[in-house]
Amino acid sequence: MQIIRDIIALRAALADLRAAGGGVALVPTMGALHDGHMALVEEARRHARHVVTSIFVNPTQFAPSEDLSTYPRREATDAHMLAEAGVAILWAPTVEQVYPDGFASSITVGGVAEPLDGAHRRGHFAGVATVVAKLFNQVQPDIALFGEKDWQQLAVIRRMARDLDFPLDIIGVPIQRDEHGLALSSRNAYLTDEERQQALALPRALTS
Ligand code: AMP
Repeated sequence: MQIIRDIIALRAALADLRAAGGGVALVPTMGALHDGHMALVEEARRHARHVVTSIFVNPTQFAPSEDLSTYPRREATDAHMLAEAGVAILWAPTVEQVYPDGFASSITVGGVAEPLDGAHRRGHFAGVATVVAKLFNQVQPDIALFGEKDWQQLAVIRRMARDLDFPLDIIGVPIQRDEHGLALSSRNAYLTDEERQQALALPRALTS
């Protein structure tokens, strides 16, 4: 697996993959990988010969009060997991690569992006849509995979891809849960034992 951090090297590596034949799948993540992310990678491998996974903790989707500085980062472990899973390229750009000096563009999705998280996390979905559009342009995949855990995000990305004519298929992957039913999430690391117990009310309520 190649670990690539700049766009010129990414383009060269992608050209090599395409010359070898077979489709390219993109799995965008913010890292701190767990079995939820790996389910996306496995599904990607079923659809495409080459899998590119991105790890980028995207500052523009965090509100000032959110956990950008403390978000779990463990790239070496992540890279090992992805290599074992047969990923061809780990695209791990720097913040400067993604948002060069003077960056001044943003994609705002209306409609489905407005209620729920859109109403409570100001600017969140604009940050998500902008970085995902950039990842689509950088990698130019045939398909991209997103988790149903973030259902509204999946709907926002489907809307954006259709509205802006991105020539790719978006595939949603079912929620992966732990043995107690809690949805796997990188942020579960923040939970105390008590909070973890309280969080189980959610899957219980959904399935009762
Ligand atoms: P994140 O690293 O949290 O931005 O997540 C990257 C991708 O993995 C997103 O498409 C998420 O919806 C997906 N994902 C994260 N956790 C899970 C899970 N438990 N089950 C399925 N997909 C997930």
